[in-house]
Amino acid sequence: MKKYDVIIAGASFAGLSVASRIGSGKVLLIDKNEIGAQQTSACGTSINILKEIGCEDSILKSFTAAVLHIKNKKIDISLLEKYCTFNYKRFCKLFARQNRAEILKANVKAVEDSVVITDKGSFAADIIVDCTGWRAILASSLKKDYVNRKMLSFGIETELPYKDDKLRFFADPEIIKNGIAWLFPCGKTARFGVGSYVGDTKILPALKRFVGGYGLKIGKIHGDHFCYCLKKPVVKNLFLVGCAAGQTLPLTGEGIKRSIHFGIECGEIIQKILDGAFSFEQGAKRYEKLALSEEKYYNYLLRIQYKLSELVGWKLNLAVRFFNIKLVRKWVWKKYSSI
Ligand SMILES: Cc1cc2nc3c(=O)[nH]c(=O)nc-3n(C[C@H](O)[C@H](O)[C@H](O)COP(=O)(O)OP(=O)(O)OC[C@H]3O[C@@H](n4cnc5c(N)ncnc54)[C@H](O)[C@@H]3O)c2cc1C
Repeated sequence: MKKYDVIIAGASFAGLSVASRIGSGKVLLIDKNEIGAQQTSACGTSINILKEIGCEDSILKSFTAAVLHIKNKKIDISLLEKYCTFNYKRFCKLFARQNRAEILKANVKAVEDSVVITDKGSFAADIIVDCTGWRAILASSLKKDYVNRKMLSFGIETELPYKDDKLRFFADPEIIKNGIAWLFPCGKTARFGVGSYVGDTKILPALKRFVGGYGLKIGKIHGDHFCYCLKKPVVKNLFLVGCAAGQTLPLTGEGIKRSIHFGIECGEIIQKILDGAFSFEQGAKRYEKLALSEEKYYNYLLRIQYKLSELVGWKLNLAVRFFNIKLVRKWVWKKYSSI
C-alpha cells in the first residue's frame, strides 16, 4: 500500500487551502472530480481573501454596494470591504498551482485507522484531512451521526445573461419561504439563486418564480446542501475543514472565506507537525481551539436565521427601520467582517 505523510480528501476551497500551506513531505490530494470542474456555489466573496492567496485573476466583477430586499422594502448597504464574484474553474486552477501534492481522481469511501479507502485502492497516511463538503465522508465513516441532516441548508442557482451593478439579497416569502434568494452579477451574466434554510430540496419552482420576475427562464442549474453548524473539527486522527466541519456561516450561507481561512490555519499546523515543532496531539488541540473560537458569532447568525421567517407586519417595519440607521449598519458590518 502506498504511504503518504498527509492525505487530503476533497480539493475545493478547503482542500486546496490546506494543501497550499504544506511545503514538505509526501502529500496526496484526492477528489472525485477534476479539480475546478464542479461549481456548486455562487462564488461571491471578499476581494481581500482572493488577493491574500494570489487568486485575484479569477475575479469577474467587483462590488462596493449590496441591496437587501425585504419584501417590497429595499435597504442599500455600502460594503466596507470590497466584494466580488469570481470564476470557479479559474480560481481552482490558480490555487492548485500553489501546492506540490500528488493529485488523484478517486471517490473516497471511508477511513480505517490511518488508511483511506477509495474506489482506486487504499492509501495510508499519518495525517488525514476531510474536506469533502457537507457529507464529511471520512468523518461519517468513523461516526455515523457526524452529519446532522436537520442542520443543513440547500441552495440552487442558474447563470443567465443579465447586467447589474449590485449584489442583491431577497428575504421574501413570496419568492421562498424559510430561505433567501440572491442575484450576483458577473459581468454580462448574473447568478440567480434560491436557498432553503430548512434544507428543502424542492425549490426549483421558487427559482423559476424568481428569475421569471426578471422576465427570464432558468438555464443550467447547480447547487448542493451546505452545513451551517460548527462541529468537532478533529475526530480521532482526522482534521476536518470547510463545510465538512460546518464552517459555512448561518444566515448568509458564506463558506468560501471561512473554508479558505480555516484551511490555511489547518495547513500551517500540519506543516508544524511535519517539521516536528508540534506533536500530532498538540496540533490537533490547537486547530480545535481555533476552529471553535468563533462559535459565539455563528450562534448569533443562527438566531437571526431562525427569526427571519417571523419578520412580518410591524416587526418587519421595525427591523427595516432599525437596520436603516447608519450607525447600526456600520456596527453590524464591523462585527460581521471580523469573523
Ligand atoms: C447554491 C450555493 C451557493 C453558494 N454561494 C456562496 C457564495 O456566493 N459565497 C460563499 O462564500 N459561499 C457560498 N456557498 C457556500 C459554499 O459553496 C461552501 O461553503 C463551500 O463550497 C465549502 O467549501 P468546501 O471546500 O468545504 O466544500 P465543497 O466546495 O463542497 O468541496 C468539497 C469537495 O470534495 C469533493 N468530494 C466530495 N465527496 C467526495 C468523495 N466521496 N471523494 C472524493 N472527493 C469528494 C467534491 O468533489 C468537492 O471538490 C454556496 C453554497 C451553495 C450550495
